[in-house]
Amino acid sequence: MLYTSTRGNESVSAATAILQGIAPDGGLFVPREFPHFFPAGLADYDYQRLAREIFSLYLDDYSAAEIEAIVAGAYGPASFPVGPAPVRSLGDGRTEVLELWHGPTAAFKDLALQALPRLLSAALTKTEDQREVVILVATSGDTGKAALEGFKDVAGVKIIVFYPRGGVSRIQELQMVTTGGSNTYVVGVDGNFDDCQTGVKEIFASSSLARFSSANSINWGRLLPQIVYYFYAYAQMVAKGRVTMGELIDVCVPTGNFGNILAAWYARKMGLPVGTLLCASNENNVLTEALAAGHYDRNRPFYRTISPSMDILVSSNYERFIYDISGCDPQFTAAAMAQLRGSGCYTLGPELRQRWQGRVAAGCADRAQAAASIRHAFDDHQYLLDPHTAYGQAVAERLLPASGRPLLLVSTASPFKFPSAVLEALGVNVDATDEMALPALLRETSGWPIPANLAGLEALPVRHQRQSGAQEMLAAVEDILGQG
Ligand SMILES: *Cc1c(COP(=O)(O)O)cnc(C)c1O
Repeated sequence: MLYTSTRGNESVSAATAILQGIAPDGGLFVPREFPHFFPAGLADYDYQRLAREIFSLYLDDYSAAEIEAIVAGAYGPASFPVGPAPVRSLGDGRTEVLELWHGPTAAFKDLALQALPRLLSAALTKTEDQREVVILVATSGDTGKAALEGFKDVAGVKIIVFYPRGGVSRIQELQMVTTGGSNTYVVGVDGNFDDCQTGVKEIFASSSLARFSSANSINWGRLLPQIVYYFYAYAQMVAKGRVTMGELIDVCVPTGNFGNILAAWYARKMGLPVGTLLCASNENNVLTEALAAGHYDRNRPFYRTISPSMDILVSSNYERFIYDISGCDPQFTAAAMAQLRGSGCYTLGPELRQRWQGRVAAGCADRAQAAASIRHAFDDHQYLLDPHTAYGQAVAERLLPASGRPLLLVSTASPFKFPSAVLEALGVNVDATDEMALPALLRETSGWPIPANLAGLEALPVRHQRQSGAQEMLAAVEDILGQG
């Protein structure tokens, strides 16, 4: 399988696409084809078998033995004690929740970031270039820790994570700054997530300092692992008797950078029976307008919400969607992205919009609606939604009232990662409570257990204290690499 750029006529192997992260022309790597996949025995597949088969379709430059080792290392019980992606019924007779937060950092990014370092290490052995790889990550909170855990002490790789100071929760910050490993670096930036992401893109573009790569969801090695869990969820729904093989389901994905939902779109292209794919946003609803009216416009206020990982105005992976919708037209995609960089907006006409109508829908909710979803799920079903998932649930309740199809609600984080917002939604006053005491309070309130890897964070030593202005990120990288 060869990979091309959304902005040009690149043609590279999977290993090269994964090593480079972003194409030399600034575009994103996409596979030239999406092979059909919908095996009759799907309901009997376990997670690792599914991952092996789907990886093999896209990574024909990796040997079967390499893929087997990557999958076993990434998805075994050491990282996912209860399995990578259990599906639980909400209890409303309609919604199945895909719980993607049973990994090392309690957010869905673990599913990709346990695999990516292994994919990258194997890719390194396939190229002549023996230079060290420096992974640059801009994080709105969850990617950073998941990437640090995935890349920690991986040979031949350094990882540098930038996060917006004040833009992540205290728990997320502690998770990152207490990370061990001899090759991990964490930098707090004075700015928001978009500043961090822009800074990282500039470092990529402007510097020949090192061999940079990305662990953000622009890397194909992040997206591919995410396709797997949509098939797995469907297999679980068949196994449970919620659907029969081939029956359509609706899928709702709380969205930020458009990576998770793009993987669902790709799964559908491969043959997964998805009816409506629902893109759920919070108050930063740039994608709602983009998908409903074709108008992508980042010129709008930026809101800090109770779902920080969705606080994004430039959704990088939307570029891959546009490329696909345009009929794989790199000139068209490059022009749209140039407009986005210039004026901050671009519009897709009605004939293009028609290509996703009836297949992709979009909606947004506000904080009160998300909080109401948390409260109702708990009061009615004793189910604890995290704030990101709650925005998804709020949008699904409003926009998919009567499709009649089962709904797969993608749950992206453990509620214990955002205990203050969850407790407030449940009517518990947390103003006077120390932030670090909130997980225990949520446990008492809900009866749900605290995930093991979130307990005891405070006792760990802080190992990273670097800070940087939004314009000084390159200097921070030079400083880190200069230290050898
Ligand atoms: C990253 C993240 C999202 C958004 O996912 P995208 O792939 O960027 O759309 C949603 N929820 C949580 C908890 C996340 O960490």
